[in-house]
Amino acid sequence: MSVPATGLPMHSRDGARWIFDPGALCLEFLVTGGPGPLARWETLDRPEGLRTWLADSRLHLDPAQVDVTVAALASARRVRDALWRVVHDAAHGTTHEADDDAGEEAELTPTPEDLAEVNRAAARPPLVPRIAADGTHEWTLPADAEQVVSTVARDAIDLLTGPYADRIRECDAHNCQLVFVDTSRPGRRRWCSMERCGNRHKLRALRARRDHS
Ligand SMILES: [Zn+2]
Repeated sequence: MSVPATGLPMHSRDGARWIFDPGALCLEFLVTGGPGPLARWETLDRPEGLRTWLADSRLHLDPAQVDVTVAALASARRVRDALWRVVHDAAHGTTHEADDDAGEEAELTPTPEDLAEVNRAAARPPLVPRIAADGTHEWTLPADAEQVVSTVARDAIDLLTGPYADRIRECDAHNCQLVFVDTSRPGRRRWCSMERCGNRHKLRALRARRDHS
């Protein structure tokens, strides 16, 4: 909250680079992979995956100063998968529309154990904030991956119980599952990113208009 968000650098399968700002730390964590079919995006299967995320995310941590054990990595994946289900549920409400993604929806239905997983992570010691000599916010280093995951879990609890809980949304593009929180005043954000899904949609709409005229 005290650090301005710049967004995560993303790489599309077609090689395009773009920036995704989901509006919250815990939602940034979801791009590291997920349960079920989302496992194809998995990056937390090796310490380097988490280290890259630490530097790219709004935490802006020096990965060399964060201890990442195999056990912590496994715990990070469990918490992330639990968060996916809880956040997906918050984005869609409890009544899921039946559609051709029914299989994927089943993978993303939260259980009480998911909330317990998030709460357990949040109960561990988080990263410790400090004020730098130039007055800016930074995190005390060295730190370890458990602290990072605790900080992510606490951020998720703040988001899910806070004023923007009903502004958690999935990108409107049909084939995009990225989740963001719309903190804009008008509250009309539809896309993970204007430069990606937003522009694709605009192009399609233009083409459709042209073909019908
Ligand atoms: Zn999108």
